[in-house]
Amino acid sequence: MSVTVILSRKGNDIVTLSPDATLGDAVASLARNRIGAIVVTDANMGVEGIISERDVVRLIGERGVDVLSEPLAGLMTKAVVTCAPDETVPQIMERMTRGRFRHVPVVSGGKLVGIISIGDVVKYRVEEMERESAQLRDYIMSA
Ligand code: AMP
Repeated sequence: MSVTVILSRKGNDIVTLSPDATLGDAVASLARNRIGAIVVTDANMGVEGIISERDVVRLIGERGVDVLSEPLAGLMTKAVVTCAPDETVPQIMERMTRGRFRHVPVVSGGKLVGIISIGDVVKYRVEEMERESAQLRDYIMSA
């Protein structure tokens, strides 16, 4: 299954902020949208960075709550690992495992078109395993 299929099921809603938004803005948006990461984009939806709940905890732990008023530009992860819509779920899983992160923005033609989280990947894997075991059961019953 490709990333496109997952996006078509969960929708292409993407929560983004610009680099001049503050970490406080990001915290408010993470809470409001009940998500774990926000992609930081330019005016053309080009990916500039990503900020996740782990970054928020680490930054406050290291620098105190004053960091909440600083812009994302200096706080976000800038080397963002992305994927293309036609890539497969195993490819994304491998990328998440190797990079030890739980979010992969989907980019097409230089623009952000979606985001795949580890939750999406796990949901897909569970459904796939259920399908496989149902097929095996059917096969055994019909033998
Ligand atoms: P996460 O597991 O997604 O909460 O992120 C853990 C760390 O990896 C944080 O420092 C994030 O900013 C960073 N991160 C998350 N997603 C990506 C990504 N796709 N590419 C690069 N870094 C990422």
